[in-house]
Amino acid sequence: MKSAGPKASQKLQPQQKNGDSMSYQHQDWQGKVIDLPKGKVVCIGQNYLDHIQEMQSKTAPEALFFIKPATALCPLAAEFVIPTGHGAVHNETEIAVLIGKKLSKASEDEVMDAIWGYSLALDLTLRDVQAKLKQLGRPWEIAKGFDGACPLGAFVPAEAVQAPQQLQFSLSVNGELRQQGDAGLMIRGIRTMLSEMSQWFSLEPGDVVLTGTPAGVGPLTPGDSLHLTLHITRQLTGQSDTTVLLDVQTSVSMQSL
Ligand code: ZN
Repeated sequence: MKSAGPKASQKLQPQQKNGDSMSYQHQDWQGKVIDLPKGKVVCIGQNYLDHIQEMQSKTAPEALFFIKPATALCPLAAEFVIPTGHGAVHNETEIAVLIGKKLSKASEDEVMDAIWGYSLALDLTLRDVQAKLKQLGRPWEIAKGFDGACPLGAFVPAEAVQAPQQLQFSLSVNGELRQQGDAGLMIRGIRTMLSEMSQWFSLEPGDVVLTGTPAGVGPLTPGDSLHLTLHITRQLTGQSDTTVLLDVQTSVSMQSL
């Protein structure tokens, strides 16, 4: 495995204390601030078959989209907080896409040019709260959109990712592998997803799209240490070649809502 980019294994500056989402700014993989505002986060649910199976979710042909507000954003490195006193908080590790140009009712051919870059995010979910809201037939905004519900990593520029459908990622918690994802296994790929989202919600510069979680969601506990990687594997004749794009060490702290 080799590393790409000047600082692929960078430890990002501790930056702001999380929970302090007011001070979140998008950063690139060299730690430079990206000149884009922080916007909303548009997410897709049920985009990997193995996660649908683990949740025993009811599915439909129509995409499941939801939004986290910009106030959910906080830095993924080097520590983030989770709420306590509201039941389980689950990790959902997802590829994040940063929008660089406006997309409104865009065709699939238009979307790739509008992507600034790629990163990893945690779609933190208050799972017990969500289950209760689902049971009541209510929207589950609170379970997914609370302050700090979207720890987000540094972005790798799109130019450095030739084939985003070959992106892969992993999450280990306290040294144990918990999630492994492969963009090639998405039910809706990135082009399709962004085009479809933009029919409903204009995607603006600085908005972020979360592309769904594979299996392996589970509770996080204060004190957990997390290791996330984003990598790309190309199949060359007879062998595969893996390049690590992001390598993030972080830990879970707590804060009551
Ligand atoms: Zn998710």
